[in-house]
Amino acid sequence: MLYKRSSELFAQASKVIPGGVNSPVRAFKAVGGTPIFIKEAKGAYLYDEDGNRLIDYIASWGPMILGHAYEPVTNAVIEKTKKGTSFGTPTEIETKIAELAVAMVPNIDKIRFVNSGTEACMSAVRLARGFTGRDKIIKFAGCYHGHSDSFLIQAGSGAVTFGSPNSPGVTQGTAKDTLLAPYNNLDAVEALFEANKDEIAAIIIEPIAGNMGCVIPKEGFLEGLRALCDKHNTLLIFDEVMTGFRLGKGGAQEKLGIDADIVTFGKVIGGGLPVGAFAARAEIMSYLAPEGPVYQAGTLSGNPLAMAAGLAMLTALNDTPEVFESLEKKTAYLHEGFEKALSKTSLEYTINRFGSMISVFFAKDEVVDFETSATANNDTFKKYFHGMLAEGIYLPPSSFESYFLNDALSYEDLDFTIAAFEKVVATL
Ligand code: PMP
Repeated sequence: MLYKRSSELFAQASKVIPGGVNSPVRAFKAVGGTPIFIKEAKGAYLYDEDGNRLIDYIASWGPMILGHAYEPVTNAVIEKTKKGTSFGTPTEIETKIAELAVAMVPNIDKIRFVNSGTEACMSAVRLARGFTGRDKIIKFAGCYHGHSDSFLIQAGSGAVTFGSPNSPGVTQGTAKDTLLAPYNNLDAVEALFEANKDEIAAIIIEPIAGNMGCVIPKEGFLEGLRALCDKHNTLLIFDEVMTGFRLGKGGAQEKLGIDADIVTFGKVIGGGLPVGAFAARAEIMSYLAPEGPVYQAGTLSGNPLAMAAGLAMLTALNDTPEVFESLEKKTAYLHEGFEKALSKTSLEYTINRFGSMISVFFAKDEVVDFETSATANNDTFKKYFHGMLAEGIYLPPSSFESYFLNDALSYEDLDFTIAAFEKVVATL
């Protein structure tokens, strides 16, 4: 496959856009090579600027759950656009999508729309702090909640200690309010509560993690967090930016049977337009301006195009919930194919899957947290990634990412992918 035009476009972009991209993972830093510039997409396929067709396993990092250029969504956006793109006033469609989201997801009475997952998580934490009157939060190493300062924190010197900034520009002052624990380690969380009595406003977690590759909570882990939150009057925030409207109508809460206090959304809820949202029971949401004192706002929040796309997407999922089962079956089919192919090699590997999220780690041991995810062999991953790309399969360009299946993928596409996989892993 040739990427001549992509290379030219990347060189041109790099002159005027830092690193040539508007979000770092797109630059292929982890895998090397030229980022591929996509011209258009339809269903399960991406078409790049050089005329290559790629089977897409990213789905725009989640949103395109029903495939690209899904007509009910694109038509809704086109029709809305003709009537004006933003008014800065309330519109009826905001209530319609809010009503639908509240009906689909457990434990939420009210929802506020924002423009990204980052904004949703940032605002959810502010709301939790305002509601509890406490400053500190607990997050888990390897979980990503967007690029707001409070989340760009890494573990400090001891395992159970204050975090330190993991990006220049994040202050120590901010870092001291974010406590870090390893994923799946309830004892570490308990120790943080002991050391910070009555100071922890919230625990924020990806209930199924997707940002250290797909990592699944061990039995009892989320239940344990729920119990600790109840004991210490701390709020449990589920970051369902990836899992929301992907694992099922009600997201991870419903799928795993755990109640969160605040839930954040992004990706699918916007149908491919820039949308995020956070939601909770009325008692908590009443703290939000203008009803309450916690400030949060947005010039383009709830804008008609974004709401039209989101409403069309949620309506489709609500009306045909069998989509979730179909996606899960397709992902299980892929999983089985991968497993068979890998078992014929001498490679060390672990595959984690939950619903329509799946990751292949070239790691010896079980992957249960960031530390074990980081043991995966990146050289093998790079070869694997480029091998698959050469076969016309577009995978996440980092082993710290989950694949996201979309329901436009046919079993023919999956068989093609598995055959390519078998060929590629045999060369690693
Ligand atoms: N939370 C999670 C779980 C995410 O995966 C992401 C983005 N990948 C975010 C928050 C941030 O969302 P956004 O990129 O829309 O700001």
